[in-house]
Amino acid sequence: MLNVKLPKFVDPRKLADREVNISGTVAVKDMAELSQMLVHGDVEVIADLQFSRDELRIRTIMGDVKATVPVECQRCLEPVDVELEAKLNLAISYSEEKAQTLPKYYDPLIVEEDELELLPLLEQELILSLPIVSYHSDCSIQTSFGDGNTVDVKETEKPNPFSVLAALKGSTDKK
Ligand SMILES: [Zn+2]
Repeated sequence: MLNVKLPKFVDPRKLADREVNISGTVAVKDMAELSQMLVHGDVEVIADLQFSRDELRIRTIMGDVKATVPVECQRCLEPVDVELEAKLNLAISYSEEKAQTLPKYYDPLIVEEDELELLPLLEQELILSLPIVSYHSDCSIQTSFGDGNTVDVKETEKPNPFSVLAALKGSTDKK
């Protein structure tokens, strides 16, 4: 596995001019905003970033950011692991104004200074890729109302759908 720590700051234009690839890891707990949304931040983010210039000489950052993070299951409130993957498709621009001229197939990234702080960028990409609702695919708490209505259902109050089914089955079998 990768065990290189990502640099905190990069000079994205210089890296793009040199066609540099950076891959490495960073601890989720170094991303305060994302950590707050998780059960804990003791997991790693893996990033693979390619800085380059396209055929129009536009400086770009392509790549992906991945992490498997523990979030609270919306049904049972226990941790559930969610795989996050964000694809980067960025074109670097000095200003909002200049960003308007970029081809629409890029997401503009405004970098006014020489340096770019890498972590907040990766953090925002991961936050955007977080699902709105997460739950165990085999959660012990099931619902007959669909997703999202079961946050305050207690496990002890859970009706057993099979008892109804069994009763029906029993009556037809008896004849
Ligand atoms: Zn659950």
